[in-house]
Amino acid sequence: RAKQNGKNTYQFYTSDMNFTTFENLILENKLYNALERKELELYYQPQVDLNTGQIIGMEALIRWINPELGLVSPGKFIPIAEETGLIIPIGEWTLRSACKQNKVWQNMGYEPMRVAVNISACQFQQEGFVEKVGQILNETGLESKWLEIEITESIAIKNVDFTARTLRKFKDMGVKVSIDDFGTGFSSLAYLKNFKIDALKIDYSFVRDIGINSDNESIIKAIIMLAKNLKLNVIAEGVETKEQLSFLRDEECNESQGYLFSKPVPSKDFEKLLVRHNAFGIV
Ligand code: C2E
Ligand code: MG
Ligand code: MG
Ligand code: MG
Repeated sequence: RAKQNGKNTYQFYTSDMNFTTFENLILENKLYNALERKELELYYQPQVDLNTGQIIGMEALIRWINPELGLVSPGKFIPIAEETGLIIPIGEWTLRSACKQNKVWQNMGYEPMRVAVNISACQFQQEGFVEKVGQILNETGLESKWLEIEITESIAIKNVDFTARTLRKFKDMGVKVSIDDFGTGFSSLAYLKNFKIDALKIDYSFVRDIGINSDNESIIKAIIMLAKNLKLNVIAEGVETKEQLSFLRDEECNESQGYLFSKPVPSKDFEKLLVRHNAFGIV
């Protein structure tokens, strides 16, 4: 959207900007109907315990499959959902669907495990969000310890007092909290000790550089040490190669997630991974 540059000034756009705006308008329009037309779906990606090779959790990742647009990545439509406020109903749908699906798998007799759900800033800051999560857990019958919410550093530090209070409520409720994309935000480490969190997720951009950039390797080592000292779980995201995996294991990172194990997959395919539960064979 163009900002008014004062009276009688002309705004020039490159064709590229025009295209982006136009594309976003189309997406926005179609996104309004995505929920009721059941075009949204959750994919699941396993999180693997690096000591046992077992799946110990999963991250729910949203997908939008539109008849005309095809598959739209969350990187494209989540920002639009956030701008338009659609993230509130979409986020609620995501939480409910993830909890419901996890409960279904538990009822089928699979080893119980946590499901992680990404939370946007406006959801987290929404009045009554903690109560909403409690209501969804009640409704779906999922025990709180099997739900993890993922927030980013930038959400956490927006209003430190509010965040501390909210995270304490989740802790009291038994819901787990992890900090997503850790290391990419410009945040002070001091806040970590005031926040009731359970895990740090090392961002993909550092993991990608294992064996390539020693500065980023150092950052990974520092995050793992930090997590250890604060008695937090530490999960590396975006693990694609055996070399990355062995580096992470040597540094005693306890969990991993990435294409090396599995891409995010539809629930039916995730079930096949649950059947083979211990099949990653990395021990
Ligand atoms: P994220 O939470 O950091 O999720 C990790 C992203 O990395 C996912 O992208 C996942 O598919 C991708 N990934 C996992 N393993 C690998 C790997 O080995 N290599 C590579 N190159 N990528 C890997 P995805 O699914 O496109 O999601 C992108 C972002 O969209 C997420 O980043 C998250 O911030 C957001 N998002 C996804 N689902 C939701 C949702 O339900 N609600 C909200 N608010 N945001 C969501
Ligand atoms: Mg995430
Ligand atoms: Mg991440
Ligand atoms: Mg991300």
